[in-house]
Amino acid sequence: MAAGAAFDELAPLDSYRRNVLGQVAALEPIDLGLLEAQGCVLAEDVTAERDIPRFANSAMDGYAVRAADVNPDTPLEVIGESAAGGGPVPPLRRAAAVRIMTGAELPDGADAVVPVELSVEEGGKVLLRSTPQPGEHVRPAGEDVREGQTVLTAGQLLGPAQLGMAAALGRARIRARPRPRVVVLATGDELVEPGASLTPGKIYDSNSYMLTAMVREAGATGFRHGIVGDTRRALAEAFEGALSHADALVTSGGVSAGRYDLVKRVLAELGDVRFTRVAMQPGMPQAFGFISGIPCFGLPGNPVSAFVSFEVFVRPAIRRLQGREDINRSRVSAVMDASVRSPAGKVSFLRVALRRDDGGWHARPTGPQGSGILGSVVAADGLAEVPAERTEVPAGERLIVHLLGADR
Ligand code: AMP
Ligand code: MG
Repeated sequence: MAAGAAFDELAPLDSYRRNVLGQVAALEPIDLGLLEAQGCVLAEDVTAERDIPRFANSAMDGYAVRAADVNPDTPLEVIGESAAGGGPVPPLRRAAAVRIMTGAELPDGADAVVPVELSVEEGGKVLLRSTPQPGEHVRPAGEDVREGQTVLTAGQLLGPAQLGMAAALGRARIRARPRPRVVVLATGDELVEPGASLTPGKIYDSNSYMLTAMVREAGATGFRHGIVGDTRRALAEAFEGALSHADALVTSGGVSAGRYDLVKRVLAELGDVRFTRVAMQPGMPQAFGFISGIPCFGLPGNPVSAFVSFEVFVRPAIRRLQGREDINRSRVSAVMDASVRSPAGKVSFLRVALRRDDGGWHARPTGPQGSGILGSVVAADGLAEVPAERTEVPAGERLIVHLLGADR
């Protein structure tokens, strides 16, 4: 192969990525317990079957009164008490008061509450140092939600407030798209479990920990499968086992051109998984496809290639499975504080640290950008994207930076 010919065979990143993500569909909704549904996308409109609050109640501990009866010189007779969750309360008659607690039902005839701090109760009578307005310290029925009102809508992300509201409406279960289960496997005969001792030529498996953590950070359930050796049989058994309880499969290693790079072959034998050389750096060799309807991502083994490939393809795919609209990382435009180089014909992703000044964001590379150098990922706030046609970006120019870490 001529030196330049390789570029012709590379798939442009944009169209490859669009094609991959276009094939990944949201998981079918199921009924989930409220806390199981945290972070999931709601798949129904939730309508209130009754008012919230259901009955007028007190916003304070104090005395329920008819506002017009209160006079700072004349005590009112205390005719009863209304406690939160207590039984029925007698109606209020003229020139009387009912002792009332926060959240307790307002007696019929009462239209205001005077806080206990403004009261002196003695011998069955209470003197109220206040001239309340009707409605004061009263939470009327339906002030939060009206019966029949649509309170949550399909497509909303279920966070703490949404789950609290569902509970307030009396819902024990809710229809939502389940949290995707993603199995991560590391392949390679050189890999050793962290904590075990290393023999010559061996390295610790870092990818499966990193990728499982990335799966979890993306909002899915990550299962870390142990290390799988570079044999057809071990790989086929591991993949088949993993697929029985997965909504997506992520592997690292074994997709380049080496003699023991069997992953792509085995994935292709088990289903419709294709191998593509994508015009990006790091992360050029990629495998993607479906086995029994389950999306499978074969990522390259170099740790940074695996990291960047996950960010570019797998994270958005997981968000698709979740049914989320926000599949991409937040991004900022940042001024480069140092010049950077980039290979011709490939989109490159550079590990950068960000800082902000009055003029906006600035980025600088965190160190050497080799695809095995995890140290510069550790120090990175984001990935700066250099377009395929650029081979050099001088200091002072702007690049798009995809923000890593927690959602901002
Ligand atoms: P491969 O894609 O299998 O050719 O691997 C490319 C490079 O990444 C080799 O140097 C591997 O040793 C390394 N590598 C592969 N898998 C892992 C892993 N799970 N953790 C750390 N390094 C890995
Ligand atoms: Mg390998």
